Amino acid sequence: TTFSDLGLAEPFLRAVEAEGYTDPTPIQSKVIPEILNGRDVLGIAQTGTGKTASFVLPLLHAIAGDKRRADKKSCRALILVPTRELAAQVADSVRTYGRFARVTSTVIVGGVKPGPQIRALSNGVDIVIATPGRLEDHLSGRAIRLDATEAVVLDEADQMLDLGFMPAVRRILGKLPRERQTVLLSATMPKQIRGLASDFLNRPAEISV
Ligand code: AMP
Repeated sequence: TTFSDLGLAEPFLRAVEAEGYTDPTPIQSKVIPEILNGRDVLGIAQTGTGKTASFVLPLLHAIAGDKRRADKKSCRALILVPTRELAAQVADSVRTYGRFARVTSTVIVGGVKPGPQIRALSNGVDIVIATPGRLEDHLSGRAIRLDATEAVVLDEADQMLDLGFMPAVRRILGKLPRERQTVLLSATMPKQIRGLASDFLNRPAEISV
C-alpha cells in the first residue's frame, strides 16, 4: 500500500513525501484507515514503528477536511502523552505533517509558566498535545474545556500508568463527550490498560505490530 491508498488528502501526501517517506510502515497501514473511518483503535506498538504518524496523519486529515473551528477555550482533538519530551516530539510531528494544511496546535505541559498556555488556549485550538498534570490544572482553572472535543489519543498509555497518571487520565476522559473517537496506543498491555480500554473505548479495532 501507499499513503495515497490509505485515503489521506493531498496536503498530507505532500508532507510525507517531503519527509522522504516512500511507503507507510505496518502500523500506519493498519491504523490510518481505521481512524479515517471513525473507529476507535487499541494499538500495541513500540516506539520506532512510525506510531506517531499513524495517529497524527488521520487526525490532521479529519480536522482539515471539516472546516469547523474549535470553540473558545476548547480543542477539536486531544493527544495525551506521559512526558514533556514526548509532547515536544509529537507536537513537532503535528507541525511537520500539517505544514501544507491549516491546522493549529499547542503544547500543554508542566515546568513552564501557565500564562502563555492560557493565552494560547483562549481562542480555541485544533489539536492540544498535553501531559495529564498540567492539563488538569488548566481544566480546574477553566482555561480549557473538553466537552466539544471530537477525538482523543492516549499515546504510550503504559508509561502514563507507570508514572501514576491513571487516575488523572480517567478523570480527563470522563470530561470528554460520550460520542467521540478514542485511540489508545501502548507498548505493553497490562491489565490496567486493558481495563482502561474496556471502560473508555467503543468496539475498538485491535491492532498490534
Ligand atoms: P515513531 O515510532 O513515531 O517514534 O517514529 C519513528 C521514526 O520513523 C520517526 O523518526 C519518523 O520520522 C520515522 N517514520 C515514520 N513513518 C515513516 C515512514 N512511513 N517511512 C519512513 N520513516 C518513517
